[in-house]
Amino acid sequence: MEILKLGGSVVTKKDLPRTPNVEAIRRLASEVATAGPRQLVIVHGGGSYGHPPAKEYDISAGYSSPRQLAGFSLTHLAMVELNMIVVEAFLDMGVPAMSIASSSFLITEDRRIVNVDFSVVSRAVEFNFVPILYGDAVLDSARRFTILSGDQLAVRLATDLGAHKIIFGVDVDGVFTANPKLVKEARLIEELSISQMRGMVRIGEALSTDVTGGMLGKINEAGVAVEAGIDVQLVNALKPGAVNAVLRGEKVPCTWLRR
Ligand code: ADP
Repeated sequence: MEILKLGGSVVTKKDLPRTPNVEAIRRLASEVATAGPRQLVIVHGGGSYGHPPAKEYDISAGYSSPRQLAGFSLTHLAMVELNMIVVEAFLDMGVPAMSIASSSFLITEDRRIVNVDFSVVSRAVEFNFVPILYGDAVLDSARRFTILSGDQLAVRLATDLGAHKIIFGVDVDGVFTANPKLVKEARLIEELSISQMRGMVRIGEALSTDVTGGMLGKINEAGVAVEAGIDVQLVNALKPGAVNAVLRGEKVPCTWLRR
């Protein structure tokens, strides 16, 4: 089984509120379809859908005022809307996609997934569906609610379901020596070890609002999967053909995270 995480920077236009990147979504659906049938779980991020309401109502930090209750619900609804666009595109391309909302079956503990039962997801895969989950506004036992990032969810799905690989599709070729959007001389790091990852205190911040920590948060989460022996690869999902090539085991410019 493989997990494909599609970043919010891929499935939405991050600078335009509530704007899906329809072209990228449809192309990625077709790339997954033509890669052939496989055991696959997809997770997508929030981008310009989930992040603006999450930020406006400060959902990530947890409960501080009653007005956040509606904000929590609106954040989830924005994600439902984006998920529908993604799932419909995959269905159109012949992928048996199935929408699954993590907020309906898991509660985090102080922002982390502790106990979770993914049997709905594993059964769906067993029955040949391609489940499509997403970063979501979820209930939290310590904070009443929070934001569960698609990255944390993807890693936990991988470890719990025994996936052999996670592919993080982002809007850059992988992890660079500096933020490639800001630093022209930034070089792609083809292999990054756990110790190098842990040593990276700050690898630059994402340009747009991202309450879940940009690239730094992503490799921190991914480190857990690497430690569990799962192959983790970051690729540019905005480059036509890259995700298809990776699914078929071909080489593309990317970053491999290693033990
Ligand atoms: P997602 O698509 O999952 O939302 P993010 O936008 O959170 O992904 O993270 C990807 C972004 O991280 C890139 O677009 C880039 O601007 C930023 N970034 C910051 N530092 C780096 C780095 N050292 N290497 C690659 N990307 C970086």
